[in-house]
Amino acid sequence: MAEYQWHDYDVIIIGAGGAGLRAAIEAKGRGLRTALICKSLLGKAHTVMAEGGVAAAMGNVHSDDNWQVHFRDTMRGGKMLNNWRMAQLHAQEAPDRVHELEAWGALFDRTEDGRILQRDFGGHRFARLAHVGDRTGLELIRTLQQRAVSMDIDVFMECKILRLLTDAEGLVSGAVGYWRPSGEMVAFSAKAVVLATGGAGKSWKYTSNSWECTGDGHAMALWAGADLIDMECVQFHPTGMVWPLSVRGLLVTEGVRGDGGVLRNSEGRRFMFDYVADMFRAETADTEEEADRWYEDHSAGRRPPELLPRDEVARAINTEVKSDRGSAHGGVLLDIASRRSAEYIRRRLPSMYHQFMELAGVDITSEAMEVGPTCHYFMGGVRVDADTGAATVPGLFVAGEVAGGMHGANRLGGNSLSDLLVFGRRAGMGASDYASGRPGAPVPDRGEIDDAITEALAPFDRTDGENPYQLHEELQDTMQSLVGIIRTGEELERALEQLDVLRDRASNVAIGGGRSYNPGWNLATDLPAMLTVSRLVTLGARDRKESRGGHTREDFPSPDPEFAKVNLVQRQPSGGGVGGDIKIGPEPILEMPPELKSLFEENH
Ligand code: FAD
Repeated sequence: MAEYQWHDYDVIIIGAGGAGLRAAIEAKGRGLRTALICKSLLGKAHTVMAEGGVAAAMGNVHSDDNWQVHFRDTMRGGKMLNNWRMAQLHAQEAPDRVHELEAWGALFDRTEDGRILQRDFGGHRFARLAHVGDRTGLELIRTLQQRAVSMDIDVFMECKILRLLTDAEGLVSGAVGYWRPSGEMVAFSAKAVVLATGGAGKSWKYTSNSWECTGDGHAMALWAGADLIDMECVQFHPTGMVWPLSVRGLLVTEGVRGDGGVLRNSEGRRFMFDYVADMFRAETADTEEEADRWYEDHSAGRRPPELLPRDEVARAINTEVKSDRGSAHGGVLLDIASRRSAEYIRRRLPSMYHQFMELAGVDITSEAMEVGPTCHYFMGGVRVDADTGAATVPGLFVAGEVAGGMHGANRLGGNSLSDLLVFGRRAGMGASDYASGRPGAPVPDRGEIDDAITEALAPFDRTDGENPYQLHEELQDTMQSLVGIIRTGEELERALEQLDVLRDRASNVAIGGGRSYNPGWNLATDLPAMLTVSRLVTLGARDRKESRGGHTREDFPSPDPEFAKVNLVQRQPSGGGVGGDIKIGPEPILEMPPELKSLFEENH
């Protein structure tokens, strides 16, 4: 029998980004024995990288803004595939969550009359993003972390969870993992588990995501029997750095365009005017003059096409590059230097200024940036109940980027940080209520613990086997080239074949050295999740035979109204663990009530 430490809680939260921290604060505040577990250091979660801001219809800059407009923008941005109830709760509750952060000590940028300043972002009709320069995620994490520490929440950091545990009745009842510093194993029993493990971009070669984003939560939920939805909807952010190669993919915030930056091709043309889809034509400027007037006064013109939703802009850049109108290193040019003063740029976009200066030797106050699409965000994820965050398997609650539904087929910028706060709190509430009503101590299946530990340690027993770095590189090549921004049926079939081969090879990984801080071993334990999530994305992309939001099929270039009515749901019917048989099929999306439908009528 394997050796491991043992801890017992009412609620454990896996993940200490914005969603996990907010969930933990809620559960602890309701008096539950709460533990927060994260595989990096506390305060270092990927959320810390968020730049542009948190979207909330507070109306501080434009008094016409309200939750109904935010709701409508979110649904239209998501190409109506969103869970409408999530989008509604999100739009209604985001302002309270931002004010709560402020009350807990967050220092937002201010308007001249002292209110929280809000900036423009793609797809949002009004300036709506509360921000702290371009370092909003840092302030959000700092504030939530201080709050959590002041509440004396137990934190297990540098502790990587490998598998969720169930009891004899199939209720999620804990988790098992290991300490990264020592390699010692650890198991938790809990009446309720909140998953808040973030995204999964690390399976692509060019990504804005941090090292943590390996899709562990998506995979663990699937293995525990939960449903996942719309995994094919992956957002490629239009503006990642394309040069130098060592940092290719690193994000350039949409705030650059919100603050006046424009996209040009190698001919100097503001090409986004050529790519305005019918759905957005009425509210988008026809000419450069009109677009520029809007920056000075929003009532004097319509929005610039550079601020269309991300999927539209990313596809346009992709087309320009493929048509040989790209920049020297295969991107396009993002120019704010010729449009704003150096002082303004350094004040509004301090991180971007330093990022380009230090990494690329480019002074963005005098030169244009080279940018191109980068794998950024997972709209698909674990299917949840909007009000409680409950997954389809009892005992499991999910919040943040690992949850699906809120953003439909495409997320608007700024809507993730607000999502983390709104649904982190709700998942914390849902888990607390569930745990409070669950009698007795949970009894996780010890066999599941032994199996997970045996599987994790197996690479140390092999002297001759696969190198995890080699497998990771091949996986990234496969996903980048065959399941990227534009997809075809033939390429997706090829990707599935390659994923089969990689899965078989991954079961033969060999690792040398000890367990303490062993990066090769850490990567080896990431591979099952990365391979699982890659398969989910590829299967979904193969079966969604249309183009919608973040999912574009060259062989099915238009949206299909029939696909607008369904989520593509994936599950492993028997749980089945790693490598089990995944079932996929369409299931009807929730019908929107008439009072919300009416918000999409002409006069709104
Ligand atoms: P994360 O912040 O990713 O946290 C995940 C947590 O789970 C971490 O603590 C991690 O250690 C832990 N974890 C993962 N797996 C395990 C495991 N197996 N065991 C234990 N712990 C685990 N969105 C906006 O709304 N506005 C913005 O301005 C914005 N800017 C962005 C800028 C950049 C550069 C990037 C990359 C993203 C940006 N986003 C923005 C998106 C947003 O930051 C993310 O979607 C969001 O932070 C995800 O938060 P989360 O709490 O779900 O997960």
